[in-house]
Amino acid sequence: MKLELNICHLYPDILNLYGDRGNIIAMRRRLESRGIGVTVDECSIGQPIDIDKYDIFFIGGGQDFEQEVLLRDLAGGKGRDIRTAVEEDKVFLAICGGYQMLGQYYKTWDGTQLDFIGAIDVHTIGAKERLIGNYMFQTTPESGGTMVVGFENHSGKTYLGESVAPLGMVVSGFGNNGEDQTEGARYKNVFATYSHGSLLPKNPVLCDFILKTALERKYGAVEPLEILDDTLENSAHDYMQRRLSKA
Ligand code: GLN
Repeated sequence: MKLELNICHLYPDILNLYGDRGNIIAMRRRLESRGIGVTVDECSIGQPIDIDKYDIFFIGGGQDFEQEVLLRDLAGGKGRDIRTAVEEDKVFLAICGGYQMLGQYYKTWDGTQLDFIGAIDVHTIGAKERLIGNYMFQTTPESGGTMVVGFENHSGKTYLGESVAPLGMVVSGFGNNGEDQTEGARYKNVFATYSHGSLLPKNPVLCDFILKTALERKYGAVEPLEILDDTLENSAHDYMQRRLSKA
């Protein structure tokens, strides 16, 4: 049986900071290199999502203004569909503004409250100073236990509710809020993070963990993923890890 994953890229024209699209390219290439089928569809404002069709949903980052633009579309049914997909254990990868959007609300630094979709129990409070820079975190064992290098740039500080675990713990940089060392969120098969830049091309172990999660959800137990030549990916990763270890 030929395995196949269907990916839905949500709001690619609106939430499109810092080359977050590179995550889609990395997932596609790593699947194709192993002979696993992959389709990628885009879904933006005014387009309904057929949640049954997709195994992985990707949501990139965006600024406060762009997040506000999406509120009407989310309230018009997409928010409910996304909540359903999350509860059905579909895999989500959400970055920064996309991560905040899955949460309950975002109170921006000037006091505006954006009510988001509440698919995961997190909320975000804007601060005047931005949390910016290259950073690094170790994912929890439930999310593969790997060192992730990335780049963060947010004014929102995110706080996790009881039902949500962190994706990992900060080793260098700020993460969710610069206070409790947590970074990102893991709820069911949602992987949410502040890491732009792009995340998956230079963190192939995390990419494969996410792909494996999606394959297992769809097909049950699957063979271990074929090892790929990650010389370039690992050298980008290890270079940043060394740099951040010295910082
Ligand atoms: N607007 C959000 C913030 O500044 C998200 C920014 C982003 O996606 N980089 O917190």
